Amino acid sequence: MNSILIPKSIKFGTDALGQTEYPKGALVVTTAPPALSEKWLSRMGISDYELFDKVTPEPSIDDVNAVVSAYSAKKPSVLIGLGGGSSLDVVKYASKEMSLPKILIPTTFGTGAEMTTYCVLKFDGKKKLLRDDAFLADTAVIDSYFMDGTPEQIIKNSVCDACAQATEGFDSKLGNELTRMFCEKAFDVLYDAIINDKPENYPYGSMLSGIGFGNCSTTLGHALSYVFSNEGVPHGYSLSSCTTVAHKHNKSKFYAKFKEVIDKLGFDKLELKADVSDAADTVMTDKGHLDPNPIPISKDDVIKCLEDIKSGNL
Ligand SMILES: [Zn+2]
Repeated sequence: MNSILIPKSIKFGTDALGQTEYPKGALVVTTAPPALSEKWLSRMGISDYELFDKVTPEPSIDDVNAVVSAYSAKKPSVLIGLGGGSSLDVVKYASKEMSLPKILIPTTFGTGAEMTTYCVLKFDGKKKLLRDDAFLADTAVIDSYFMDGTPEQIIKNSVCDACAQATEGFDSKLGNELTRMFCEKAFDVLYDAIINDKPENYPYGSMLSGIGFGNCSTTLGHALSYVFSNEGVPHGYSLSSCTTVAHKHNKSKFYAKFKEVIDKLGFDKLELKADVSDAADTVMTDKGHLDPNPIPISKDDVIKCLEDIKSGNL
């Protein structure tokens, strides 16, 4: 049997933010400072709500507990996560604890988090990736409005992540007919948007990618990327090289087009400070990404990939 989970309602396209109706008595959770959140809230046209804007970036279970203890007694009608991954993750977990519906509104794009059943929170200072059907949004609102004012570099890294997730997801052994349909369409939309300079379509492509890979997995490219993340390289930037060499190694049908997209976006070569063999050992422990890779991966394969990344042999 195959199954996929997607939010009950997905609002997307021009002015999705303003045209969505928000229930009275909502609790809006965000990391944004008041000047910014006020702008967003007025664009939403929301009235009769409470605002919690004390979420810390890279949030922990303490942020969830702060929301639950401050607002449980007030019985909000719905939780609204408005912001980047941090705000969405806190709302995913808190809504489960409070048995409340949730609306997720990503103000950054690329991860597709608003579409997935995944949630990343710190427990005892350590980041944990959790998965639960209850983390799925009841409503997700995707609007390219938020891209205005986002720094170019962040947009580049984000769209690279979305492309990597879509194409690795397509090749994942955990995929099915439907996840492949979403992943393929996602990459088509993103490829067209990048090559033909239509950045307003990035959030839509990223949303499709989230539905696709969120119901299967990413693979070798993401496994390779974490040794660069450990050295402080932004996630999307590390995937520009990691996913390219992974596609070359896997003989993925996306290799040439993925490379084209990376060239068009223009990324610098990656440096790796760690010893290649040590880094390969770290990559080999990442069964979550390596097991669903379309072909089996040995430590020698990983070393070859890392050497290619270091020398820019993509
Ligand atoms: Zn990613």
